[in-house]
Amino acid sequence: MAATYDAIVIGGGHNGLVAASYLARAGARTVVLESRHKTGGAATTESPWPDAPEFKVTRLSYVMSLMPPTIINDLKLASHGYRVYPMGPYYQAFPEGGSIKLYADDAKRNYESVARWSKKDAESMPAWDAWLAGLADVLGPMLLTAPPNIGSRKPRDLLGTLRLAWRHRGLNVRTIADVTRLMTMSIADLLDDWFESSQVKGALAVNGVIGTWAGPYEPGTAYVMAHHSIGDVGDGHLGNWGFPEGGMGAVADAIAAAARSFGVEIRPNSRVGRVLVENGRAIGVAMENGDEISAETIVTTLHPRTAFLEHVGETNLPADFAKDISTWKTRSGVVKINLALSELPNFTADPGTELAEHHTGSVEMAPSMEFTERAFLDAREGKPAARPFSDGVIPTAFDKTLCPEGTHIMSLFSQWVPSHWNLEPHTSELEAYADRMIELYDEVAPNFKAAILHRDIVGPYQMEQEYGLIGGNIFHGELSLEQLFHMRPAPGYADYRTPISGLYYGSSATHAGGGVCGIPGWQAARAALADRKVGRTARAPRAAG
Ligand SMILES: Cc1cc2nc3c(=O)[nH]c(=O)nc-3n(C[C@H](O)[C@H](O)[C@H](O)COP(=O)(O)OP(=O)(O)OC[C@H]3O[C@@H](n4cnc5c(N)ncnc54)[C@H](O)[C@@H]3O)c2cc1C
Repeated sequence: MAATYDAIVIGGGHNGLVAASYLARAGARTVVLESRHKTGGAATTESPWPDAPEFKVTRLSYVMSLMPPTIINDLKLASHGYRVYPMGPYYQAFPEGGSIKLYADDAKRNYESVARWSKKDAESMPAWDAWLAGLADVLGPMLLTAPPNIGSRKPRDLLGTLRLAWRHRGLNVRTIADVTRLMTMSIADLLDDWFESSQVKGALAVNGVIGTWAGPYEPGTAYVMAHHSIGDVGDGHLGNWGFPEGGMGAVADAIAAAARSFGVEIRPNSRVGRVLVENGRAIGVAMENGDEISAETIVTTLHPRTAFLEHVGETNLPADFAKDISTWKTRSGVVKINLALSELPNFTADPGTELAEHHTGSVEMAPSMEFTERAFLDAREGKPAARPFSDGVIPTAFDKTLCPEGTHIMSLFSQWVPSHWNLEPHTSELEAYADRMIELYDEVAPNFKAAILHRDIVGPYQMEQEYGLIGGNIFHGELSLEQLFHMRPAPGYADYRTPISGLYYGSSATHAGGGVCGIPGWQAARAALADRKVGRTARAPRAAG
């Protein structure tokens, strides 16, 4: 063995960095092994244009909301440069004229904006917000709960299930019904129950399909909306999102600085090839270059296919677990388009290129649920969307660190291309897809196309090859109902432990992931530290229950 540590963390994405910070804070000599030249994973700020290095884009993920204050405070992230600007309203300009703004924190202005399209919807809005807040009270704390091994009759697991049931003893029939609806309905059916205007429903449906291989009419998308609506950026406004100064890479950099302050060694350009397993126990890793590193505790934060099937190997895994991981659903058909702009979009509905409120939040291209659904149906039929939808943002409305004065960065999170586009680059088709996306914005803001100085298109193939996001799924695995809570990443193994003792799992493919929330990394470190404390070296097979 070339080196020995107390703990090895595989993957220097934000979850790996969080896990390493907690392990080192508890006194473990910890190393992070990251294959890329830099840490951050999908939370990364980069300069994609070699001839214009002054422009920096938040290349994949683009907004913060879900990271709990516990992690932000424990790791003293503010002292390492973590700063988030709360976003402005959702904004959609309609091709047929007019626009809508939806505010996370201003009921009066929400009423005025929505009433232009439907007075009835404007009146429903406060009740909708209260309904969501009630659900967030139930679902929010669940995000910080390690799922129990439901179905197992072992005393420890039964206790976990009972504890969960006891915590929810206050729920009444109505709340249980609401949660059931949320977990089973499509976002379209849910919104149809609450609202009448296609403009309001189009805007509210976006959160139900972000990163999802499902259009708004697919069951389960109501939950995806809730997942994206229950965080806040520390300003106490539910569902509010924010732009980190310096882009999402700055969040990862702040966590890396925290990790170093606790003594973590971070090694970029260090690709792990295998986890070394002896008698069912992880004893170290073999790097792709052949070097070996040993440790008693290993936390892996990679996509589950890489972490288990590739690095541990099926022969070392229980057959049912290996089967669950090999059938893990990991599609999404996302294309990220990053633009450098010479000026802000000049919307016909709200004219002007001076910075205005409608530039400061989500600048959407999702004019109706039917529009968004059509984009999905195109992709499911095997074609890239003819008219893609986009969750657009202009972080430079606040953040002046990303580009020269007077210019702007715009990030378009768009969907969908066919789910198999992770297998080939599809370069020219992605260029044509981006042209169509840009054309749609140009229809509502006629200076848009001409304002583009540079563009960067990241499709599923590049996400898989360069960033390890297998299938191009942005969360290491779909947030579909059968992959949530005690099923994430596999039944019997949702407590951040794995079938291999000494090996813990803290990627976005565990409960509370995905998103840049750090909870999986925090939970994996907690599980590892708890086991170290009691000297637990082996675990009995879980799934047998
Ligand atoms: C286009 C896009 C948009 C998104 N938008 C948002 C958003 O706005 N807000 C939000 O909260 N979330 C967003 N997400 C989701 C979020 O970014 C991810 O869920 C999260 O960043 C994943 O973090 P992680 O640490 O679990 O994994 P990753 O970030 O994937 O980190 C894993 C790390 O492991 C490294 N690695 C891979 N293989 C090896 C190996 N063999 N050896 C060593 N290292 C290896 C990778 O290089 C990577 O750095 C988005 C994701 C994408 C792709």
